[in-house]
This record gives sequence, C-alpha cells and structure tokens, in this order.
Amino acid sequence: MSMVKGVYVLVVSVGKDIKVNIGALGSIGFEKGLYAYVGSAQNGLEKRVERHLRRAKRKFWHIDYLLENEFVNVVKVFYKEAEKSDECRVASELSERAVPVVNFGCSDCDCVSHLVKIDDYGFLRNLMSGMRL
Ligand SMILES: [Zn+2]
Repeated sequence: MSMVKGVYVLVVSVGKDIKVNIGALGSIGFEKGLYAYVGSAQNGLEKRVERHLRRAKRKFWHIDYLLENEFVNVVKVFYKEAEKSDECRVASELSERAVPVVNFGCSDCDCVSHLVKIDDYGFLRNLMSGMRL
C-alpha cells in the first residue's frame, strides 16, 4: 500500500468488560466485543495506522487511551483514499448501523461518535479495502 491520504477504520477487540479512563471524557465502560473506530490521515496514512498499532505511546487522541489497555487489540484495519470530510461521512454511516460510544473521537467535529460497537466487520468490506497488518 502506498497511500498518503485517506480514511481508515480500526476494528478493535475488547476481550472483557472494562472501564477505561479516556482523557477528558473520563471513565467509560466498554462491554466485551468488537468496535470500529474511524479516523483520517491527510499526510501519511500508513504511519498513522502503525502508530495506532503500537501500545506504548504518548496519549493524544481518545483512541490512544483505549488501545493502551491490555485487553484491547486492533484485529483488522480498513482504509480508502479519501478527503478528510469523508471521515465524518463514514462515522455517521457506522453510527446508523451500530451503537455509538457517544462523544468518542469527535472533539473536532459534530458527529455523535467516531467509535461504534459492532456485531461483525463484514459490512466494512463493502465500504473499504482491508489493510494487511
Ligand atoms: Zn466526525
């Protein structure tokens, strides 16, 4: 993959019911299951995704706090070449078909959330391409 700019979705597995302190959002309970997180990188999509896959890092985004937890793992990454505005379009599509974690990952936009609880991630194959981890 040699893509600089695009939207990505991290499929995140939460291995058991946990409470995580998500920075300014405070303590949030996450039920065991799968979640989808939408983000975008306008300069260096691969580097951004690689950063999400590293557990030890400075915490900057809400997702950084969640991914630091020992019971949380990124199990799949989807992406597509897109403008930044598509990030929120994908987020709202996801929020319509899944349960949003309200206010997560959307400090800079008007979305309900950029993190949703999903039953499975098969439908993402129709929206985006899979990234080899
Ligand atoms: Zn948004």
